[in-house]
Amino acid sequence: HVDVMDGHFVPNTTIGPLIVSALRPLRDEMKSVLDVHLMIEKPERFLEDFAKAGADIITVHVETCPHLHRTVQAIKALGVKAGVTLNPATSLITLEEILSDVDLVLIMSVNPGFGGQHYIPSSTDKIRRARHMLDAIGSKAWLEVDGGIGPDTAAEAVRAGATVLVAGNAVFGGSKSVAENVAALRQSFS
Ligand code: ZN
Repeated sequence: HVDVMDGHFVPNTTIGPLIVSALRPLRDEMKSVLDVHLMIEKPERFLEDFAKAGADIITVHVETCPHLHRTVQAIKALGVKAGVTLNPATSLITLEEILSDVDLVLIMSVNPGFGGQHYIPSSTDKIRRARHMLDAIGSKAWLEVDGGIGPDTAAEAVRAGATVLVAGNAVFGGSKSVAENVAALRQSFS
């Protein structure tokens, strides 16, 4: 999961297509997935760059896409899976019309911009409602949760219907190894 921030849509800057292309050989070696989350204004300007860099999934924010349907189709036309996401204060209703077209729905469980934030408790109900919306249309889209995920919050997100968890600090922070942290995370919801 690659968090791309532009200092405009969110108050921080991170990384761009160069890092995605640098990660691509590792992704191939590990048979993994490069899941690119664009927290940037006018993301349609950069879709081709991220697709060329090797993204498998590109996720855009509904808040940045007045023509979300067009943007989702543009992602798919590049041969990349399309994801949509929304900030904690944005209603799921904003995704209702696009749900059948997407491969991934991402629920932000913090306000995007920085790592290390705490999980917003009302996110669990939002995950549950998103699960119902996807099930109601027979969608097989992944339901991903991003923000404040760790051994103390993962189980509740999974129980609510999440199928993909994004974790930063819980995996890369602290004194334990990445492998130990991932094992603890998996154990917390299995
Ligand atoms: Zn993210």
